Amino acid sequence: MILPPATLGMLGGGQLGRFFVSAAHEMGYKVWVLDPDQNSPAGLIADRHLVAAYDDFAALDELSANCAAVTTEFENVPATTLDYLAKFIPVHPSASAVAVCQNRIAEKTFLADNDIPHGPFAAIRSEEDLRNADPALFPAVLKVARFGYDGKGQARVASLDAAIHAFHQFGCEACVLEKMLQLDAEVSVVLARDEAGNVRNFTPGENSHRHGILDVTIVPARLSPALTEQACDVACRIAERLGYIGTLGVEFFICDGQLVVNEMAPRPHNSGHHTIDANLISQYEQQVRALCGLPLGEPGEHSAAVMVNLLGELWYGADDHYREPDWSVLHAVPGLRLHLYGKHHARPGRKMGHFTVIGDDPAKVLVAALAAREAIGIQDDEH
Ligand code: ADP
Ligand code: MG
Repeated sequence: MILPPATLGMLGGGQLGRFFVSAAHEMGYKVWVLDPDQNSPAGLIADRHLVAAYDDFAALDELSANCAAVTTEFENVPATTLDYLAKFIPVHPSASAVAVCQNRIAEKTFLADNDIPHGPFAAIRSEEDLRNADPALFPAVLKVARFGYDGKGQARVASLDAAIHAFHQFGCEACVLEKMLQLDAEVSVVLARDEAGNVRNFTPGENSHRHGILDVTIVPARLSPALTEQACDVACRIAERLGYIGTLGVEFFICDGQLVVNEMAPRPHNSGHHTIDANLISQYEQQVRALCGLPLGEPGEHSAAVMVNLLGELWYGADDHYREPDWSVLHAVPGLRLHLYGKHHARPGRKMGHFTVIGDDPAKVLVAALAAREAIGIQDDEH
């Protein structure tokens, strides 16, 4: 067991890393963050921020010399970096588990090999692969295999010609071609798994997206008990098959009443932010516990919760004038907690913060959260 006041290492300095730093600090640990951005949200509150690239071996040496163990909040950390650090200190999750989740071809192949329900897809490495793809996949979504997030690196393609065009626009990078599914709903399961193989999952959340970015998470998800149980079972099976240690997010689609896995995130998940406010133990504290070999906590929620993401466009008022949103509007709402990530500049689409509303009655919590979302100025232009 790694106990306080040990120092933990975090690769990546985004908001997920920032919440990890907060959780670790509360538990008495110190945290060093490695992130190339001078102003990264986690770096700003870390005990030490190494401002360096993820493949800067001198910085990695410094990290491993000063930390008892290291984890990540960012799935695009090179697997070679995790492998290198693992020569010196425990690294969780492992390079091999992260490698599966950071490449959509490896991810889909893993799901297929393990008989885990997933949508129809084809691996695309060349134009030839596209031409040979099953025509039944269209209309489809073409997604770059690596480095896509928040709907970036994706194109909806109605036909083979459109897919070829998009493939060239992506620079002929390796891609997956996925059948466009008719979604009844999207849900996610966040869980933690420790070295001994114990798993604790949080209650599934129901997610809605706006412009390809998570907008609202409703917990508990409005799912039948059978689908709820199946989602948790599938997420646990994925963690086991990956030999996963740490906090893992699994995204699902519900199509025709059936559950299919969309993708996995080898880190805490945006749809698990509410666990800070609505659960006995947050997804970030579980990440610390799994990393340090402490017993995992019992994650039961004490409240229903709705989480709303706050994106950068909210900073642009009438006439695109840049200004701070009026947070007093949110602070006036009973049961609402606001979290801001300390990012220096708001860009449209950038995750700047979120709020969570908690309460006893899920229906009332949802009404209150959606009213607060509207009051702060988030508009439903698409729906
Ligand atoms: P990201 O890494 O950006 O989260 P996802 O693969 O999860 O990428 O896609 C983002 C969102 O786009 C999904 O949550 C879903 O709303 C929509 N989407 C993605 N793939 C499909 C699909 N095959 N059919 C229908 N909708 C999809
Ligand atoms: Mg996703």
